Amino acid sequence: MENDQDRIAAVVKRVIQELTGDARMVSEKADGLHDSVNEAVEAAVEAQRQLVAMSLARRREIIAALRKSVLDNNEMLSALAIRETQLGRYEDKIRENILCATKTLGVEDIEPRVLTGDHGLTLVETAPVGVIGALTPITNPTGTIIHNGISMIAAGNAVVFNPHPTAVETSTTLIRIFHKTITEAGGPSGLLGAVKKPTLETAKQIIEHPKINMLVATGGRPVVNVVLRSGKKAIGAGAGNPPVLVDETANIRKAAQSIVDGASMNNNIFCTCEKEVVVVEEVADALIKFMLETGKTYFLTPKETEEVVKLVVTPEGKINTAYIGKNVQVILREVGIEIGDECRIAFFEAPKDHPLVWLEQMMPILPVVKVKDVQEGIRFAVEVEQGNRHTAVMHSTNVENMTAFARAVQTTIFVKNGPAYAGIGLGGEGHTAFTIAGPTGEGMTSARTFTRHRRCTLVESFRII
Ligand code: NAD
Repeated sequence: MENDQDRIAAVVKRVIQELTGDARMVSEKADGLHDSVNEAVEAAVEAQRQLVAMSLARRREIIAALRKSVLDNNEMLSALAIRETQLGRYEDKIRENILCATKTLGVEDIEPRVLTGDHGLTLVETAPVGVIGALTPITNPTGTIIHNGISMIAAGNAVVFNPHPTAVETSTTLIRIFHKTITEAGGPSGLLGAVKKPTLETAKQIIEHPKINMLVATGGRPVVNVVLRSGKKAIGAGAGNPPVLVDETANIRKAAQSIVDGASMNNNIFCTCEKEVVVVEEVADALIKFMLETGKTYFLTPKETEEVVKLVVTPEGKINTAYIGKNVQVILREVGIEIGDECRIAFFEAPKDHPLVWLEQMMPILPVVKVKDVQEGIRFAVEVEQGNRHTAVMHSTNVENMTAFARAVQTTIFVKNGPAYAGIGLGGEGHTAFTIAGPTGEGMTSARTFTRHRRCTLVESFRII
């Protein structure tokens, strides 16, 4: 293990040295990192102008090169993210990066629409918005930048990132890799950038900069509210508290496996991860038994639960951020419980008003709440989702029950009979997004989201039927 750490640290150091060295050869500022927001924005404006003058074929080549650069550097980026943020699991960061590199939509997503009729032909193009300011979270520093970078550039934009201040090394390393990749693929310098030291102040400068045409915030509700007050076109991807509802018709063994896999993914730091289980009491014992049989769980007694909750919830009723994204072994050790390395998550039986049912815990400690029947389950799961319109999961074989829950909960993502991460394309159909815009309604964002629609009408001609 020690050797692995040393090896990864050596790789990180070498890649950063290579990037810094190469960047110096190109020009002092040509690594995508800038001294000021203004400098980053000016570089982005010029780069975006050059990008739209290039062919779509060249743009496709740039996107292909970006995808490849993630896969080539995945081990290093994943290790760096874990080392810097101390959140999540290495093997899950690897999966996150592969998912974003391969299943983020590219140029194919900005196909125009054509209408023909008695009056001729109208073309609706998805045009770039210009320069986008993107604020990215600590929880997925690589996934968000990969997804945002690929989709925003595919749509013909430039982007200035303001990464979370606690994920600066990871985010700026990725931005340097992307910058180098773009220029080597014949793209313009400055297309994707950030300031060297992102802070809340630089975020404010990006938000207010007159040459930033669109804002994209991926984070908690407060930052979404900040960009929505900016007076600019803003896309907000906020917090969730995804419930998973299990009814008496479900395949309980499969549900148990899915819940354990989904809720333990990256130590529960994905905004989409199952955050509380709501189960019809008739099948609750079976669900608990099958969750234990996965071999990846630890069932907390009421006394152990009390101690864990005292640790991870502050006296003010907030999540103790020191335990967000930690391995379950680390959390349980603090209260004197030793468990094996194979364990991925601890769970416990919770009353409806338990704080971990209502808080977005983002750690592998999962409450299980029993309800009388599916109707009560739907009502309660809707309440705990708290109007985030984010993600909900259901395990059931009753189509009417699933339809009733999906209608009632109104989430952006609704997963049936699988782990929540299937809803972001990991083992589920469809593209991925790490900016899931519930509050502003764009849903699973993609290149098309970062465009403006322009119409061009030709009167009385070009209808060929
Ligand atoms: P956060 O809101 O603390 O930070 C997100 C980004 O916003 C960071 O870059 C931060 O520096 C910036 N920021 C925060 N407050 C700001 C302010 N007042 N003004 C300007 N910038 C500000 O979120 P986090 O802790 O980094 O990430 C975890 C949260 O993000 C969770 O709630 C999670 O559910 C959510 N999230 C949502 C999605 C989604 O797609 N909906 C994706 C990932 C994470």
